[in-house]
Amino acid sequence: MKLIFIGPPGAGKGTIATPICEKLGIPHISTGDLFRKAIKNKTTLGQKVQVIIELGDLVPDALTVALVKERLQDDDTNKGYILDGFPRTIGQADSLSDFSKIDAVINFTISDEQVVERLSGRRLCTNCGTGYHTETMKPQQEGICDKCGKQLIIRPDDSPVSIKNRLEVYYDQTEPLIEYYKNKNLLKDVDGSGTVAEVIANTKAMIETI
Ligand code: AMP
Repeated sequence: MKLIFIGPPGAGKGTIATPICEKLGIPHISTGDLFRKAIKNKTTLGQKVQVIIELGDLVPDALTVALVKERLQDDDTNKGYILDGFPRTIGQADSLSDFSKIDAVINFTISDEQVVERLSGRRLCTNCGTGYHTETMKPQQEGICDKCGKQLIIRPDDSPVSIKNRLEVYYDQTEPLIEYYKNKNLLKDVDGSGTVAEVIANTKAMIETI
């Protein structure tokens, strides 16, 4: 099954995609994760995108589409995948339709207040990428990853200024995709405002209808 997870930053796309991908036996392809890995490894791509990402702006379509197109050629994508955070513009969506036939687009809905609440408490493992939250998903030991014991950080783009910009960028460039995919009869809304367990359950139930 080929799915797109769409929604504002902090809607829980990555958190929900992980268990769903495990259940379906398909890879979780997050463009944000791919970019962060490139930055960590100081690749040419990483150097190009680092400042853009820290500010909360979008990486140019050409770079992003090329990255996804290449990733979708890997053998592990034969059974399908979840695209998390891609596409984020109409241009990316048009390009994607040239090399992938998507089964459904799951749109996670949450309020702006919740976006700010979630992103400002978010913590990320520098090593394995596992996400936590200071209120709703605390690690056993403060500041330390339960899975690998490495340090948790605040993502540079989770600063108040970048959060505000990311929300503006979302409304300006990504929200139009909701109408775009609705017109293609691919859009499925899932209420993203509940607990992680609730949203996972609602998403699984929605996927069973596809
Ligand atoms: P995310 O982890 O999905 O919140 O993405 C983190 C950042 O990576 C975004 O704020 C953008 O700067 C960049 N990014 C991720 N996906 C895309 C995309 N599809 N198009 C452009 N930039 C992206």
